[in-house]
Amino acid sequence: MSALSEKFNEYLKKMQYYEHANTLIYWDMKTGAPKRGLEALEDVTAYFSTESFALSTSDELGQMLSGLSQPEEFEQLDDTMKFIVTKMKEDYDRDKRIPADFYEEYVRTVTASENAWVDAKQNNDFASFAPHLEKVITATRKMTSYTDPDKEVYEALLDEYEKGMDSATIDKLFDRMKEELIPLVKKISEAEKPDDSAFKSYYDPDAQRKVQKMLLEYIGFDFARGNVAESEHPFTLNFSSKDVRVTNHYKEDDAIDAMFTAIHEGGHAIFEQNVNPEYDGTVAGSCRYMGVHESQSRFYENILGRNRNFWVPIYGKLGELLPQFKQISLDDFERQINNVRSSFIRCSADELTYCFHIIIRYEIEKAIFRDNVPVSELPKLWNSKMEEYLGITPDSDTDGILQDTHWADGSFGYFPSYLLGTIYDGMYLEAVEKELGPVDRLLADGKIKDITKWLNEKIHRYGSTRTPAEVIRNVCGREVSAEPIIKFFKEKYSRLYNL
Ligand code: ZN
Repeated sequence: MSALSEKFNEYLKKMQYYEHANTLIYWDMKTGAPKRGLEALEDVTAYFSTESFALSTSDELGQMLSGLSQPEEFEQLDDTMKFIVTKMKEDYDRDKRIPADFYEEYVRTVTASENAWVDAKQNNDFASFAPHLEKVITATRKMTSYTDPDKEVYEALLDEYEKGMDSATIDKLFDRMKEELIPLVKKISEAEKPDDSAFKSYYDPDAQRKVQKMLLEYIGFDFARGNVAESEHPFTLNFSSKDVRVTNHYKEDDAIDAMFTAIHEGGHAIFEQNVNPEYDGTVAGSCRYMGVHESQSRFYENILGRNRNFWVPIYGKLGELLPQFKQISLDDFERQINNVRSSFIRCSADELTYCFHIIIRYEIEKAIFRDNVPVSELPKLWNSKMEEYLGITPDSDTDGILQDTHWADGSFGYFPSYLLGTIYDGMYLEAVEKELGPVDRLLADGKIKDITKWLNEKIHRYGSTRTPAEVIRNVCGREVSAEPIIKFFKEKYSRLYNL
């Protein structure tokens, strides 16, 4: 190893330690720290973030990356190091193009907007949030003019969350979904609804915690390399492949919500636990492509978890932990966990109508950045799209355009990745069935870990080293397509609703 490589490795370690400390503080802030302790933690995390940022933008790092990119140094690196140097140089050059004073202004704009959003949502007051949203949009445009000067704004935003993805491809995918799934949702809305009265009950949170543990173990979450806690909004956090943590929240009148949260976050976590450990703490590890990440959580949650056969080997155990389920047949349970109905809130939507919650947000993002639709007109646009796709209009902006924090915090371009994840899932399902046989049978036979192993080998181990398009090509042998998931939805719901 050259002297420069050695020095670079030491530097990477230092960066990793700061990052680790920061992640740990974040975890503590979200899951355990007492209210009065939060202020001190905010100071600590601000310190570590600033140090971390300084390390990742220092001249010293810039010089090392330039040096390592020279052919005589670069050719000596192994493939992993080549990836790390190339990616870090890309990130470094990009960050360096952002003027420091603009960056500060951007952070201030976003923070003010997030605070204004909390009040606006609570008071159903879009007008008070509108000027902030306008400022965030302007700041976002300016930001991309530095980070991606050669790209059209919205293309740059999409690329940030799902590398290589573009609006022409997404348009095609989403248009196909609209064409096929709007009539399907309509048919379902006219069909007979399942009776959910048997599910109304008090569910002991302690018992729900045990169910979460049972489910995580069942799908392949490794408790030697992860643990669980509680937080208001569930999330997954990873330090390295050896330490990945998930959170959950428990409702006393609904046990199903936490079960599927457990499976969803478990899917994210199993991904991170199985990334090649050689990538730990570097840009090659922890998958940075949001669509690919979401494809894993949603594969477990929806493709596997909402399949009746997933529950066949463990439904008895569920009844032991939560006796209410002893009184409910597995058929009724299956219908309940696949209960499709149009609703206002994305986070609690079923897997089918969920698609439209995303399509609406994607189309509005395009309206903002491409068609320059004024902010004041967005609530009307939101409501008309809800009506067009789901046949319902929210009574308030709180249940409409104000429900998510993503735009308030400047995460434009992020929403489509949720639905891209679902589209990828249809393709993985086809591939897994071709290679391992029918998923129904694997699940009914209790062989879910065979599927986990397959995902480990095909997707998880590569971390960030394969772009989304490379993942799809390698796993499925073809370009991304919405047809498999459309077929899956049509068959599944035609059966469940006797259409
Ligand atoms: Zn997720």
